[in-house]
Amino acid sequence: MRLIAIAAFAIAALTACTDPALAAPPAPEGKIRVFTGGTIYTGLADPATVEAVIVGPDGRIIGTAPPLSRDWSEDEVEIIDLAGAVMFPGFTDAHAHLQGIGERELTLNLEGTASIDELVTRIEAELQALAPGAILFGRGWIETGWPEGRMPSAADLDAVSPDNPVILVRSDGHALVANTAALKAAEIYDVAADPPGGRTERDENFKATGIVIDEAMYPVLSLVQDPSYEQIQQALETGANTYVARGWTGIHNMSALRDHARLLKALDDEGRLRLRVYNAFDTRGFDIAKRREFETARITNRAVKIYIDGALGSRGALLIEPYSDRPETSGLEILDSGNLHNLMMDAEEDGVQLAIHAIGDLANRRVIEKFEELDYSADLRWRIEHAQLLHPDDIARLATSGLIPSMQPSHAIGDLHFAPARVGIDRLRGAYAWASLLKAGAMIAGGSDAPVEVGSPTIEFYAAVARKDLTGFSGEGWHPEEALTRQQALALFTTGPAYAAFQENDLGTIEAGKIADFTVFDADLMTIPEQQILKARPLMTVVGGEVVWQAEW
Ligand SMILES: [Zn+2]
Repeated sequence: MRLIAIAAFAIAALTACTDPALAAPPAPEGKIRVFTGGTIYTGLADPATVEAVIVGPDGRIIGTAPPLSRDWSEDEVEIIDLAGAVMFPGFTDAHAHLQGIGERELTLNLEGTASIDELVTRIEAELQALAPGAILFGRGWIETGWPEGRMPSAADLDAVSPDNPVILVRSDGHALVANTAALKAAEIYDVAADPPGGRTERDENFKATGIVIDEAMYPVLSLVQDPSYEQIQQALETGANTYVARGWTGIHNMSALRDHARLLKALDDEGRLRLRVYNAFDTRGFDIAKRREFETARITNRAVKIYIDGALGSRGALLIEPYSDRPETSGLEILDSGNLHNLMMDAEEDGVQLAIHAIGDLANRRVIEKFEELDYSADLRWRIEHAQLLHPDDIARLATSGLIPSMQPSHAIGDLHFAPARVGIDRLRGAYAWASLLKAGAMIAGGSDAPVEVGSPTIEFYAAVARKDLTGFSGEGWHPEEALTRQQALALFTTGPAYAAFQENDLGTIEAGKIADFTVFDADLMTIPEQQILKARPLMTVVGGEVVWQAEW
């Protein structure tokens, strides 16, 4: 009899189960789901692939199976036919900003704008729908490769918008262009003084010409009303929807606001949160992480993010030796050693996981030294966010400390265009040193830092294995030997984030007992030629056994 081998297997597995987490009675309407009909990577060494994955009504994997008969009863099991697609353990972005990802979708998105001409044309179109005097806010432009060879100016925008204030943030978030109406409304049009750490570009008569940088942006940005709770929640929901449609099953939401805890829980309670979220709050959310408040089956609140230094592009990363292209500075110390000490003591005592932003080699060294000095162990699973530039002596030291480097492959392929200028070729030996860190025994959690970067699993995977930019370019000092194998890259976005979130018993691989979070692509990322990785499309995203998103296919 060619029974429903799969259903029999599943039911046997269910009844044989003694783990209390798995023994929970299935929901009355709950069916067993079987994912089969494609290549299924488990993320394990053995078996590396399986023919089918059987998921219980509780959203956990009952078992995986060898070749099975396809004669099954639809009453007992729901078959999800992968139709030749390729399934992986769920991809998790270990460093991104959920509200920003949503806001990018909800505001005028200028990514990909190819010239000032095009920028102005798009503004003109948007203005049609805008009330007189209303502010037009957008983001995402960058002048690299524009035929005009310059940044946009107030005059460009004034030509189409003399009255409505227009504020357009550059893609890196460190500069904006505003038209004269906005500059006047922000009261910086003819005031010459700039705040420390900021600059407003001005003509010979001290009139602002449109470009506003870093700290000087605040008066302009404050024209755009603080979002209401409803708008923040809408951004969070949109961010989550955007992410599952790209193939992510989870996000480690960095610098989450206190309010995110409550708003995300409300979304999940209403069945509107489709993405798994692990929050790392800014320090104002410390008590929420300490008490593990507002958690659900999809939401975990146990981390806090702190900053040691700034970023490399704006020369804010804290370096041991001065910047090569500006020898009078070694970067920015945002948190001094005393405050770091106190924060670490508090977090350790209260069981809060720290996610510590450190980019420059000195910032990273300070974290490692302090961690060693306090004699903390790997059990804390504290993370260094970015860990971009390490002194070569600190690579092994970081790995043995048990701190988890949380790194973003797309940063490397973007930053390596300007990093040689900032730090010189020699120091790049310890830059984005993924392979060296893994070799030294570190567990790396991989992420994207969206919305600073696109936030795409295929771009991150490609960057990790190719270590070339999106056009295939690799420059001097990019250290191709730091590129990862496919297996290592997969781990970066599956087992790495799971471990960095204390979730390795539930997530990261496809095996019995774990939660059914899966990412399905139309191409086999483990075998296709490097450049084709960027063309792979997500087809289906499964969170907790539920198909939360599916492409038309
Ligand atoms: Zn970030």
